[in-house]
Amino acid sequence: MALLSGCFSSLWDHPQADLMQQRSFPLRRALFQRSGTQILRPPWSSEQRVLDGCTSCGACLNACPEAILIAGPAGTPKVDFTNGGCTFCGDCVNSCPEAETVFAPRKDEPWAEQGGLLATIGDGCMLSFGISCQICTDSCEPEALRLDLSVRPVGRIKLDTEACTGCGACIEACPEQAISTTTRPSPAPSEETKHA
Ligand code: SF4
Ligand code: SF4
Ligand code: SF4
Repeated sequence: MALLSGCFSSLWDHPQADLMQQRSFPLRRALFQRSGTQILRPPWSSEQRVLDGCTSCGACLNACPEAILIAGPAGTPKVDFTNGGCTFCGDCVNSCPEAETVFAPRKDEPWAEQGGLLATIGDGCMLSFGISCQICTDSCEPEALRLDLSVRPVGRIKLDTEACTGCGACIEACPEQAISTTTRPSPAPSEETKHA
């Protein structure tokens, strides 16, 4: 993929670059479709929005003060929480020349168009092995992570799904890389919907 990204950089440097950066450029679309795996796009954005409007200019990558935006397929932005969490500052949106297409309004929930985002604690958590730790709870500003001491012998991290903003700050904090993010489960259908 690095090689492919390199190819795109040289394409964009070509004198015909303006023409080549037109939004529905077929080669670009094909490259996106081949990338296969689900990529986390910047907050307020989505795969479709990036496909429709992103020109791979890199402005948002440079603007992000947390350095969590890195170049994904064809130089388009993707989120990498291994460097830290999103503060929802909106600098990526403000820097983007194509913001009207690439980003939803900032009043919207930042991950809404990507299925919502939640932290998830994996099997690697030290508490699962009886080793005390609660480093992740200190990294979580909204206090969505708590040590539940009712679970023996050393407790278990409990996630408050309502409080979690999907900021990803806990991912970098965990010394065992036991935390990742997942999309929010769809709400259970109400009785009225079920019988409609
Ligand atoms: S909102 Fe701010 S911290 Fe989050 S990805 Fe955009 S620039 Fe980075
Ligand atoms: S600033 Fe906008 S157009 Fe440029 S790479 Fe980021 S999302 Fe794409
Ligand atoms: S993703 Fe953010 S809000 Fe959610 S648990 Fe981790 S640090 Fe807390």
